[in-house]
This record gives sequence, structure tokens and C-alpha cells, in this order.
Amino acid sequence: MNNNMDNGELYFVDSIKYFDNEMFVARLLKQREYSYLADELNIAILPQQVNKNLISYYIKKKKFSIRDDQGSDDGLYDGTFVRIKRNDIKNISGKFIDLRKANLTCEHAYENELPPELKKQKYKKINEDYPFSNFLSLSQGTRHQKPKLYCFDVGQGDMSLFISSEGHAFIVDTHITQKHKKNTLTELKKLLDGCPIEALILTHRHYDHYRGAYLLLKDNDLKISRVIVNQSFLEPSRPNQVDKLLQLAEKKSKIISPFDSLLIEDGATRLFFSFHNGNIDENDNSTLLQIYYQNKLYYLTGDMGYETLENERLEDLYTQIVLKVSHHGSKTGTSENFLHELVCSPCVYNNKRAVLSKSAFISYGINNRYGHPHNECLELLNKEGFKIIFPNKSYVTF
Ligand SMILES: [Zn+2]
Ligand SMILES: [Zn+2]
Repeated sequence: MNNNMDNGELYFVDSIKYFDNEMFVARLLKQREYSYLADELNIAILPQQVNKNLISYYIKKKKFSIRDDQGSDDGLYDGTFVRIKRNDIKNISGKFIDLRKANLTCEHAYENELPPELKKQKYKKINEDYPFSNFLSLSQGTRHQKPKLYCFDVGQGDMSLFISSEGHAFIVDTHITQKHKKNTLTELKKLLDGCPIEALILTHRHYDHYRGAYLLLKDNDLKISRVIVNQSFLEPSRPNQVDKLLQLAEKKSKIISPFDSLLIEDGATRLFFSFHNGNIDENDNSTLLQIYYQNKLYYLTGDMGYETLENERLEDLYTQIVLKVSHHGSKTGTSENFLHELVCSPCVYNNKRAVLSKSAFISYGINNRYGHPHNECLELLNKEGFKIIFPNKSYVTF
């Protein structure tokens, strides 16, 4: 067994959905960080994540066979292939979700697949070793349009609205202050123009990111289907404001808090979430959101530190990037390596081999006491050829 395998984590994937997707396969093959197999079996190994216990458990139980394959001419197929027979999936599915078989929405999967001992702890920090890949496919929307990202001017905080190709809305963070309240709410409702809000996503438990969430949930003009939060929102020792917010969210919406990942398929738009928990600095628990539509990547980073961003897997191919710069342009949220990875990672889309358009939006308040945006960050963005965009009255559109 090679090292890759040792550090692997198993995910069930819908092989039809993924492996027939040319871009995804291209990505897998290019990255080489994956072992993968497509044909008769329904498993992919993503060796980047760590779950040694689990792998050794299945090896002991002889639930899969392993072969090293170094035979292909171009080297693209080299690697460790892991085979799990479809029948065996049934036997081990207590700990996994077979998306293809289950055909469940993520909420159902979440409830059904949790072992009983974890079900009780819905609002507690959940065992990090629990391997989980969530998937949610939204029903068809009424519109077909180019998606749009609106980044609001909300002072020293974040708030964005994404409207997908299907006309589904996703609100990411909600820094709505007294000063901006009236304007932001009016603009938000105007932009929504009747689009249903599929999710309110709060990237992390800092007030400059969730401040207006209560207000939005309370607003009877807005119907929010889901509230997506990381696990630290659900920790038992939470501030009153968070408690109040969760209570309202339970009542008027539905809380989703997957362990590590979530994929929302929304017609031609795909939203990949990666969740982070257990870091001392709450900024490093920010949920990262990659949204792909055709050749475009929208990358929303919360206040994540650059070390994690450098190691984050880019899920698909793109030739255009819109980056919501991390942590209000702080030097802790951007690094040369991270930007380099964004610009130089495999981006083959329609035979274009370069990232052609790079925009970076920095959300910050004028004269803030942190000195955001930091010069170091601006210099790095400039060096990589990003067009830097600052807040501008109500909002800017991408
Ligand atoms: Zn912040
Ligand atoms: Zn923060």
C-alpha cells in the first residue's frame, strides 16, 4: 500500500454523475492526488483527507482489493486502484452514503445515515473521523440565466448574494449594521426579484459575518430554505446571539451543518463547500465555497487563513476567477502560493489553458481599526494580475 492510500479517505460518489463528467475526470487525472476508478465499481479514493483507521478497518475486513497500476503509456492512469464490489457496499454502508443508491437529498441523508450515538448530539461537535460526503440536488429552477454574484458594501464585514443559473439565491454572510440596514435590505429584495433563497450560508462565527442573519430570518418577505453553518455555531457553549439565531433558524428554516463537505448541484451551477472545525482562531474555521458555472469560478473564502487556502483542493476547471479576498484584505488571508495555485492550477476549459480573467473583491470598512486592506495583500494580488475591486456604494456585481 502506498502512502497516498495510507492517508486516504473514502467517499462514495455517484459514478455516472461524476465520471461521465469530462471536466471532473480531467481534473482527477491531472491532479494525480486521486486514485480513481470508474468502470464497474462505484468508489473514488480521495487521498488528501486523512482517515487511516477507516482504511485499515476495511483492509482487515477484506472489503476491498488493491492493485498498483503503473502501466499506462502517458502515466495518467498510474496509481493505486481500490476495488470495492458493489455488493459489499451494501454491507458497509452503515458508515457511508452511497449517493447513487440512496438518491437522497442531503438533509435526509444526514438524518438517516447518522449512527444513533451521533444523532443525539446534533448540536454538539461531531466526531471528526466520521467520513461524510454530502450531496444535495436542487429541483429545477424557473429561469436560465448567467449567474451573478453581488458583493454588498456593508462596511467592515462581509455580505454577498449569489443568484445561480437556475434563478436560485444563496446569501453568504450577513454583516448588516444599523447604518446599512435599510439600504442593504431594500437592495437585497430588489435583486432577489422573487428568486427563492435556497440557503443562507454563514461562513464562521464572527459577528461581522452573521450579524444580520437574525434580521433576515425574521423578515417575512424572505423565505430562507436552509441555513448552512459550520460546527462551531452548534457548540453547546455558544453566545446568546448565536443561540437566538439558531432557535429562529430551526423555527423558520432548516439548519444544515455537514462535517467536512457539501456539494449542491443546481442545474449548470455547482457549489462546493468545505467545512473546517476545531481551530483556535475562528477565522480558520471559515467555510470555503467554490461555485462553478461553465468556465467561471467564484471563490468565497470567509476569513480563512492562507495556509488552509493553499492546501484546499480546487474542485473543477475554470478560466475566469472571481475571488472574494479572505479576511477583508488582511495579510493573514492571502499568500503568494495561494494566488499562484489559483492562477496556475489546471484550468483547461474548452481548450483554453490559462486563467483569462481574474477579479478580486475586498470587503472592508473605510478607516477600520485593523488597517485592512493590508498593503502586502494588495501587492500580491497586483503581482498575480488580479483586478482589485473595492466596495462601491450599494454593491458590485460579478
Ligand atoms: Zn470578518
Ligand atoms: Zn472573522
